[in-house]
Amino acid sequence: MRLFSIYQILFDRYGQQHWWPGDNAFEIMVGAVLTQNTAWANVERAIDGLRRKQLLNAEGMAACSPEQLAQVIRPSGYFNIKAKRLQSLCHWLIGQGGVAALARYDDASLRQLLLSVHGIGPETADDILLYACQRPVFVIDAYTRRLFSRLALFQGDEAYDDMRLAVQEALSKNTVSSAERVPLFNEYHALIVRHAKIACRKKSPRCDQCCLRVLCPSASVLSSNVV
Ligand code: SF4
Repeated sequence: MRLFSIYQILFDRYGQQHWWPGDNAFEIMVGAVLTQNTAWANVERAIDGLRRKQLLNAEGMAACSPEQLAQVIRPSGYFNIKAKRLQSLCHWLIGQGGVAALARYDDASLRQLLLSVHGIGPETADDILLYACQRPVFVIDAYTRRLFSRLALFQGDEAYDDMRLAVQEALSKNTVSSAERVPLFNEYHALIVRHAKIACRKKSPRCDQCCLRVLCPSASVLSSNVV
């Protein structure tokens, strides 16, 4: 229940975030890989490069040499690793029959399949499931751990799936169907990222201006530690 109240406060404060940026499901999948360990501005530059080279499609990227692909996505950082990961994802996707063909899998099966692809960990898989495939899966990232631990909802170091399932279960009480959960999970994760960047920052959180201050047991402690 408290999780939903927090969502409502964040939504009232920031409004709709319109996530995930991307023209189609494939572009969102590519962005989910490219955003690993880098800022979104760098991902946009890499995606622009792929678009300019007409490589923003699974067939083109899979057929490209790893070296050429790495150079195109260079702005995203870790470009050699990410080129291999993108090519693994593209080969897998082609083998599956494309993005639309993934609709034949239930949520749990598709998650397992994505996790079997080289370089796709739980957070990337869940980004793809939620934002590209419209599946009701909550994304847990460092921002989520920071905010929910400061709010004393979690310790913050729980195993990924323990935290994901606990959040999903708590929020399912406020939704009756998968169709309702997808937009809720979509918006909630985007709002967490927004709030963690603007207010609940890793260093020097702005507790004095925070919309969640009255609910947050960390507010006074962190405010008094700001230098
Ligand atoms: S009061 Fe401070 S620690 Fe709590 S959520 Fe807000 S910014 Fe984060």
